[in-house]
Amino acid sequence: MADFEGVLGKHKFKYKKSLGQNFIFDEQILDEIAEAGGADGACVVEIGAGAGTLSRAIAKRSRRLCAFEIDETLFPILDETLDGLDNVQLFSNNVLELGVETVDMLIGEPYIVIANLPYYITTPLIFTFLKSELCGSVTCLVQKEVADRICATDGGDFGALSACVQAVANPTKIRDVKSWDFTPMPEVDSTLIRLDRNGGEPLTDKLDAFIKLCFAQKRKTLVNNLTAAGINKQDVTDALDGMGFPATARAEQLGAANLFELGKKLGRA
Ligand code: SAM
Repeated sequence: MADFEGVLGKHKFKYKKSLGQNFIFDEQILDEIAEAGGADGACVVEIGAGAGTLSRAIAKRSRRLCAFEIDETLFPILDETLDGLDNVQLFSNNVLELGVETVDMLIGEPYIVIANLPYYITTPLIFTFLKSELCGSVTCLVQKEVADRICATDGGDFGALSACVQAVANPTKIRDVKSWDFTPMPEVDSTLIRLDRNGGEPLTDKLDAFIKLCFAQKRKTLVNNLTAAGINKQDVTDALDGMGFPATARAEQLGAANLFELGKKLGRA
């Protein structure tokens, strides 16, 4: 076990809240994340290597680890903490700026994502990988309330985020991680979730945009939300009728799979 905190101290590292830097040092939690994500023998992409704590736990199991980190002050630290691991490639790019096609090209083979995500870009990062042709699963730590929304199948938490994720993946909550297990301690607890792609097509920008339209005003009916966005009213009521739903249905009544189906019927998915 590398002395991660010692190396950070030696380099006088200062945590940057603006980059969502909340590190985990507990070896048992790190091993659990790597195992739950399915690191064994896999090609793994990690977003935000930090001090390399999770990277090490992943790399000792995986065939290949491609770790992204944008804070260059961490590179000399990672040089030390990941020393001796010859299956790790470190990238200094911002995944969101690269875009999913470039990430897929860089990796060049089927992969899975395992990460303690920077919280300020959790959703765009998850969406990026749900749009990938090569990514089979995303296992990540997210704020507890985000995990609740991603996994909700009905009720107040079910919304555009739940529907987009569930249209292309099956989400599972693995375990909660308390705020005091992170350094520095964030204000809220986190949940480790795993999203397994369901074998169908990846999420598209078109479907993502359609689902957001469906939930544009949550208390309004689907017909109202979609016609406000310029979609023909008769087309929407016909499509709903064909699927066995009344014209008064709201987006949450349909669930993810039916919203996907509705998007396809309307040429929007
Ligand atoms: N993996 C480490 C751990 O578990 O202790 C660090 C996790 S910390 C929550 C998130 C890391 O993501 C930080 O090191 C931060 O600098 C990095 N980060 C923030 N935005 C990023 C981005 N757009 N691309 C890659 N890394 C990013």
